[in-house]
Amino acid sequence: MSSDEFSIIDRYFTGLGQSDFAVELSTGDDAAVVDIPPGRQLVLSMDTLNLDVHFLTGVSPEDLACKALAVNLSDLAAMAADPAWFLLSLSLPKSDPDWLYRFSSALGEMAERYRLALIGGDTCRGPLSVTIQIAGLVPSQGYVRRSQAKPGDLILVSGELGNAALGLAQLQARVDLPGDIREACINALHRPRPRIEMVPFLREYANAAIDISDGLQADLGHILKASGVGAILNREALPVNRWIKQEDAYHYALRGGDDYEICCTVAAEHRQAVDSWNTAQPDCRLSIIGEITDSAYLLQHGESSIDLTQGRGFQHFD
Ligand code: ADP
Ligand code: MG
Repeated sequence: MSSDEFSIIDRYFTGLGQSDFAVELSTGDDAAVVDIPPGRQLVLSMDTLNLDVHFLTGVSPEDLACKALAVNLSDLAAMAADPAWFLLSLSLPKSDPDWLYRFSSALGEMAERYRLALIGGDTCRGPLSVTIQIAGLVPSQGYVRRSQAKPGDLILVSGELGNAALGLAQLQARVDLPGDIREACINALHRPRPRIEMVPFLREYANAAIDISDGLQADLGHILKASGVGAILNREALPVNRWIKQEDAYHYALRGGDDYEICCTVAAEHRQAVDSWNTAQPDCRLSIIGEITDSAYLLQHGESSIDLTQGRGFQHFD
């Protein structure tokens, strides 16, 4: 980047956010240094957002910042990790103070809300692209992986599915949604809510978990493959908005991307814990959408059932 690279870092990207976990050395040296508390493990993930692939021209800097951090936080949530720190790699076509102010302010606010600190990164000139590497902590062996789902487990999903994909369809004029649903769907696309509040629940009850970025069908499919099991889903139990029900447009829920809800499996004996959760956390409702089986991957709808092993989620190199 030009000579003002360092003033950009100083002005906009120094001291953003706040962590409950110690930072020895932050932005400003060749690398950051942090302490991992005894009895904890470090959980690392990284996600990139590229212009025209992950967001459209004209996206607001606030939406871009929030989504870039949200998709990374969502990965930590799926692992049942507490957010701690993050690094930001920013590629910018030009140095635009207004854009940088708005981007970094939104990023800082979100980092405060989810209690993680920006501790370093990279800044260069190029096509607009945002990469975040996120670091979280779990009590040793307290993480949740994809591979431990057991036959008989209940399959749970948070929130509503398909809204982000519907929001994109609305922006691309492929659908014409009623006003209230339209707003909610565009908001779901631009401002996904990482389900960090589920971390304690997942740690206590989940056998397996994944965040839904490529559609339920594909992402639950990853759990099934990793765990060597099958599943039967009940279409009527899928949490979807009233437009999807009316239009029978369940493919948005099954194969639409960008939901960033959590899909997890818990032993059937924890059904009561799901009910208690739903009473305590009405903004993060868990729906029981089906059950883990020995094999096969089916969606039941009335008397008929559809094979879900065939459909794939969003893939970059299709
Ligand atoms: P180096 O040339 O040693 O790789 P840089 O000049 O890229 O270092 O960065 C200087 C410091 O600023 C480093 O601590 C780096 O982590 C930090 N930094 C660079 N870009 C960002 C950014 N976008 N956000 C946060 N910190 C950044
Ligand atoms: Mg260096």
